[in-house]
Amino acid sequence: MRKQLSGTAAARGCALGRARMRLPHRLDIEATEIAASDIDAEIARFHAAVDTVRTEMRSLRDRLQGALTPELGEVVELHALLLDDPELLSGIDTLIRTGPYSADYALRLQRNRITAVFEAMDDAYLRSRIDDIDHIIERLHAALHSRKTLLPGVSGDILVTDSVAPAELAQLQAQGVVGVVTAGGSPLSHSTIMARSLHLPLVVGANQALLKAKDGDVLLMDGSSGLLILEPDAGDLRDHHERVAQSRQERRQLNRLRREPSRTLDGIDIKLWANAETRDDASEAHTLGAAGIGLFRSEFLFLGRSDLPDEETQFRAYRDVVLAMTGRTVTIRTLDLGADKADRSGLVVRQEANPALGLRGVRLSLTHAGLLRTQLRAIVRASGYGPVRVLVPMVSGLEEVRTVRAMLEASIAELRAEGREIAPKLPLGAMIEVPSAALALPTFIGLTDFLAIGSNDLVQYLLAADRTNEALDSLFTPLHPAVLRVLHEVIKAANRRGIPLTLCGEIAAEPTLVPLLLALGLSELSMHPSHLLEVRQAIRGCNLAGLRAAAPALLRARNRAGIERWVAAHRVQPD
Ligand code: PEP
Ligand code: MG
Repeated sequence: MRKQLSGTAAARGCALGRARMRLPHRLDIEATEIAASDIDAEIARFHAAVDTVRTEMRSLRDRLQGALTPELGEVVELHALLLDDPELLSGIDTLIRTGPYSADYALRLQRNRITAVFEAMDDAYLRSRIDDIDHIIERLHAALHSRKTLLPGVSGDILVTDSVAPAELAQLQAQGVVGVVTAGGSPLSHSTIMARSLHLPLVVGANQALLKAKDGDVLLMDGSSGLLILEPDAGDLRDHHERVAQSRQERRQLNRLRREPSRTLDGIDIKLWANAETRDDASEAHTLGAAGIGLFRSEFLFLGRSDLPDEETQFRAYRDVVLAMTGRTVTIRTLDLGADKADRSGLVVRQEANPALGLRGVRLSLTHAGLLRTQLRAIVRASGYGPVRVLVPMVSGLEEVRTVRAMLEASIAELRAEGREIAPKLPLGAMIEVPSAALALPTFIGLTDFLAIGSNDLVQYLLAADRTNEALDSLFTPLHPAVLRVLHEVIKAANRRGIPLTLCGEIAAEPTLVPLLLALGLSELSMHPSHLLEVRQAIRGCNLAGLRAAAPALLRARNRAGIERWVAAHRVQPD
């Protein structure tokens, strides 16, 4: 019988297939005590299971070599590292010994202990690491029983499971699995990032699916809305086919725009940059005709590892992105760890009561000047291979820009003295994402060569609305008169001085907001490459002169409803 369920949208795309259930075995483990005389044998049995999983992980890593981006390869690496984590393993030995419990039950107790700590964390990124721990626990449990963790996927299956590891997704897709639904998970997890880059539909947080679906049920899923339908009826199937046909048609039309200019109807070119976290993002950006990389989030090189990447490691990563862009400019942002981008390298002050207002971005870099110096040297060296700009995150005023500029100049002088090939010019830019930087822009604009508005943080700080708190979804919006006024002032200040200005927050990726951003005076936008063609299409439907003339009406709007009316009235008509 038809059942409609829902979860959280994670990776977009619709899929129709047979549910393949992978039930969480660890939930079935009962409290089991063992005899004192069996303790040593039980510990040995557990360690044999750890060895088995270690070998499995090694062979998985070898098999996937080259199939994963470096970042996702690191996730597989991280899972292997968890196996060596004394917190995880010695805790289990102790439980077996003191219970004395069976290895299975000790595993379950230890899992609950560790995940309780993670669940209590405010940081959504860290909370999403429970998936990684669960994955290892599940593998260990399977090894204790010589059971295979990964059911071979069958072409046309949709995997329904409690959690899925990033590396599994690549394997499942290769076997023909068309989508994945998980009971746990988060839209910020590594698995979600992986599913997006594989273009594999993923819905997370769908507890009900695990309880209600049975192996072999027909399941229809929509990774864009989180909608799940078990045993869909004729109407659902019709809707599904229509949606698939429509998105194919849209993709075909969009693909025609790959080589077209991002030009308004009245002939003005808007510069479209891409945001990138990996080299793969850069090559996608290149293929789709991005003007360059407007934001390379370098913190992704620092996440998920237990040590800091040295100058050589960073240099190679930056150089490869520069080479992938074949002469188009790459904007490398210095480290922006902290708050929603937590790290494992021990640099962030974890006990901060308000991490979003704490030691993050350039503040952290300036507190660890050696770290910034290493990063600047790596960036400057990469400029020998193609044009590079340096972007500073979380600037709140003049001093930070002045200090980073002095450090950048020192690095350039040092590397020239070492005889390195370096670009003749390395423009330095500031992110405008803290209200004080926006308001005090005239005091330091002369120290910058370009600017980038980080609208995600600017909205968060202007409206005092945490960008990661789902309860504030209705408050966290760029459609607020305060946000529009600040954007407008920043754009006017940059345009007056002839300083190039890009907007690189999520709103740049929203085609319906393109008329609003152009009306405010922006002429450069930066977004994830997967949105580039949709934004280009929207630009090609805009009349810039008309929009600029309508800007005063937009700025007069008194609330969200008024701004939404303006947006609706200036909606781009599809061609
Ligand atoms: C922003 O804040 O808008 C931005 C682009 O930076 P991030 O999302 O990486 O904080
Ligand atoms: Mg930001």
